[in-house]
Amino acid sequence: MIFRRFLVEDSRNFAYLISDEESRQAVVVDPSGVVTEIMAALGEEKLNLRYIINTHSHPDHTAGNRELALKTGAKILKHEAAGYDVDLKLKDGDIIKINGISIKILHTPGHTPDSICLLVNNKLLTGDTLFVGECGRTDLPGGSSASLYNSLFGKIITLDDAIEVYPGHDYGPRPDSTLGFEKKNNYTLKHRSKEEFIRFMRE
Ligand SMILES: [Zn+2]
Repeated sequence: MIFRRFLVEDSRNFAYLISDEESRQAVVVDPSGVVTEIMAALGEEKLNLRYIINTHSHPDHTAGNRELALKTGAKILKHEAAGYDVDLKLKDGDIIKINGISIKILHTPGHTPDSICLLVNNKLLTGDTLFVGECGRTDLPGGSSASLYNSLFGKIITLDDAIEVYPGHDYGPRPDSTLGFEKKNNYTLKHRSKEEFIRFMRE
């Protein structure tokens, strides 16, 4: 598997490029405005971009979606709760296949209603749901601490400790982590009841 990450310096956004070495078909997760860099990487690696997947609809992540789609013919995929500027709607449990690689969609609302995490082999792309050492904020329009609690504690922490975490922003002490490390060290994942978590997110 080809796996590349792009950092947007000012907003600390991460864009990701995933591809299958054999078929050279590729997926970009959250272009985040770095279309020139992504186009250069596609050219370098001789890749054919099939899909652009957004972890959620915030503009710092979707920036460059249409430009990249126009340049490559790729389709834009978002969770069905997104509702606009989307070619294919995703739902929880969907699997996107590019030759030998399966990308599993986990619906993880909370930061936004349309937030998803993507599980690719042992890598979990967490968007703005979970960061290294932090979790996504829920005080923006559509945010819900109760939903984020269900997503983090009902879904994400049930996954294997060895799974690597690749967030949507470079907000932590390091750019990526493992679920095992986050379960132990991320203060937002400390054991709390839903009521405690909602209160904690308000503080
Ligand atoms: Zn966001």
